[in-house]
Amino acid sequence: MMDTLLDISNDISRHTVLADYCRQRLPEMRLVQRLIRKGEGYLRPDVIGTVYDGAVELPLYSIELGSTRADAPVMLLCGGIHGIERIGSQLLIAHLATLIHRLQWDECLKQTLTEIRLIFLPLLNPVGMARGWRSNGQGVDLMRNAPIDAEMPSPWLVSGHRLASWLPWYRGNAEQPMQPEAQALCDLVTHQCATSPFVLALDCHSGFGMRDRVWFPYAGSNRLFEHVAELHALVRLFERAHPHHPYLFEPQHHHYRTHGDLWDYLYSEYHTRHDAAFLPLTLEMGSWLWVKKNLRQMTSYSGLFNPTVPHRQRRTLRRHHALLTFLIDAVRSWHNWIPAPETRARHQRYAERRWARQDSHR
Ligand SMILES: [Zn+2]
Repeated sequence: MMDTLLDISNDISRHTVLADYCRQRLPEMRLVQRLIRKGEGYLRPDVIGTVYDGAVELPLYSIELGSTRADAPVMLLCGGIHGIERIGSQLLIAHLATLIHRLQWDECLKQTLTEIRLIFLPLLNPVGMARGWRSNGQGVDLMRNAPIDAEMPSPWLVSGHRLASWLPWYRGNAEQPMQPEAQALCDLVTHQCATSPFVLALDCHSGFGMRDRVWFPYAGSNRLFEHVAELHALVRLFERAHPHHPYLFEPQHHHYRTHGDLWDYLYSEYHTRHDAAFLPLTLEMGSWLWVKKNLRQMTSYSGLFNPTVPHRQRRTLRRHHALLTFLIDAVRSWHNWIPAPETRARHQRYAERRWARQDSHR
């Protein structure tokens, strides 16, 4: 009896500490928890890991909705891997809120979700976000933390290093396992996507340049990834559906080649084990779009990665809604557009002409 009372009291005190922490430093976590309550009946929330900021224990949430069939196509939506890039988490939280509202009346969406599984990982680096850091609480850049080395890494430091955790882009200690946030993502992909015939991931970041970009592998090699023909078919579909879209689709290595990229690692692991197509995309929201309209943003570190004026934040959240909706529809209908063997070679040629050209100049 005494033990039970102690457990209950510990639980209450842990929840109070977490609630205070989130109120002061991590409003995104409160929004995620509110959505989990609001979407009861539609959502299957889970805690896929825990991380600590001092004595505060923070959950890593995954939120599933849609089909539970093992052979359902899967779309994975990740945000907040770089803690300073709050807008990525906010975009996914806003989109999940829209889906929960629409599920109350929209038969088309309900039908879509009988056929596909959506998995949201909206806040993968809560300690980094609470502290306003790019890295996690241990100073490790999670996007440099996978056990995979780049070919010809460039530029120095940005490509990932093992010098010291106080420097940005730190990969972590080679002797240690992956960080819990990175491991949780890898475990989820390994276990939840293993039997799906088609998997698409969208990992939401911000901070790179004047354009909104959609990157695909490899980040650590000048090669195009093995599913570039499928990716080309998808991009062409999007360009025809949204001819005035703002995005630049390109392989990540057109800009830099990094060690330890989680998507390179996950893609390579997946590709060696499964025949199914896995398209890991990274949305890089171009933050200079906001900075140039409000130069005061340059005076704060967070302002370089996130729109600080409320109307611009709302505009950013609206701006990517069409892309997210399109991708969900494309995952549902993947078998209608995935290139058949007789057209695949043509998509491969187009893809190489479009994206491999730049490599020959390097
Ligand atoms: Zn980022």
